[in-house]
Amino acid sequence: MKKTILTGLRVNSELTLGNYLGALLPMVRLANKYSEKYNVNIFIPDLHSIISNIDGSLKENTLRSIKYYLAAGLKLNENVHLYRQSRVPAHAELTWILNCIATMGEMGRMIQYKEKSEGKESANVGIFDYPVLMAADILLYDASFVPVGEDQFQHIELTRNLAERFNHRFGDTFTIPEDTKTQVKFMGADTGIRIRDLQNPEKKMSKSTPGENSKIMLSDDPDRAAKKIMSATTDSLEKIDFNLETQPGISNLLQIEALVNDVPLGEVIREWAGKTRYGDLKKQVSLSVSNLLISFQKRLAEISDDRVENLLPEGEKYANAVANAKLAEVYEKVGLR
Ligand code: ATP
Ligand code: MG
Repeated sequence: MKKTILTGLRVNSELTLGNYLGALLPMVRLANKYSEKYNVNIFIPDLHSIISNIDGSLKENTLRSIKYYLAAGLKLNENVHLYRQSRVPAHAELTWILNCIATMGEMGRMIQYKEKSEGKESANVGIFDYPVLMAADILLYDASFVPVGEDQFQHIELTRNLAERFNHRFGDTFTIPEDTKTQVKFMGADTGIRIRDLQNPEKKMSKSTPGENSKIMLSDDPDRAAKKIMSATTDSLEKIDFNLETQPGISNLLQIEALVNDVPLGEVIREWAGKTRYGDLKKQVSLSVSNLLISFQKRLAEISDDRVENLLPEGEKYANAVANAKLAEVYEKVGLR
């Protein structure tokens, strides 16, 4: 059986350069590398989107999420399947079954839940339960690889636990996804990528950070983005070296330069070793980032809503066929059929 790589990217608002370099681009590179021999499932997690407030139109935002993959260079072939989660009812149905084998104890330990609910009584149940929906997203397709950021590792572990528990109780049904260490290795990395906040480089760049100069949005005017790089916080050590402890700002610029141009970080570090003029480095990185934005935005503008909407029915037909077969097996095993 062909192995499956699966990913979904919630797009409730615009993305940052950090999201692009840390999540979107690695997935596109992985998909392009493996789609000859693996299934690559890329879905729009629109049911996940509604656990938080949505700014703008959900329909527009979900189409944009597929456009981002295409603009980032995703190559399509018969093994790449694009679909909307809400168009495959099996996701919600398997969630219910898995809800009945997940425990309050393990769910209550989810860090994302604790952070997002802040212990408030008014937090919606979806925020508590979405890791189970995520498990259903993965298990319906027997996915082995689910490239996600470090913040989602606990949910991958939960998925593995639920699958093992189900298999143990009802007989072999689900493929257990690889553990997170194997996943990271599969992505060709030692650790997750973490692009820093331009103004406070000891923190990561986040789309929810209010400071405009802290982050570069994929929709930023390229000249404006270049100015943000030029005004990035550095240090007074007067040497260009990669050290996240003592020179987080300079290290971040070197990291961005390497990722944007798809060159190994070591090569960029060697190129700048011994140089002292931070302005020169900033100018180089500004140029790289503004060129990236120019070409990304140009490609994005060329992708019409129609093109994306025309791609989805085929992916959704495939997804329903695979997911419904798995769900039928589950219903039978638990005694509902
Ligand atoms: P928020 O501020 O709303 O949490 P965010 O920018 O942290 O937004 P998420 O939606 O939490 O983005 O994450 C989307 C994906 O981007 C995840 O896979 C996450 O690991 C990755 N990611 C987020 N920020 C960075 C960053 N600074 N560097 C690399 N990857 C990142
Ligand atoms: Mg985040």
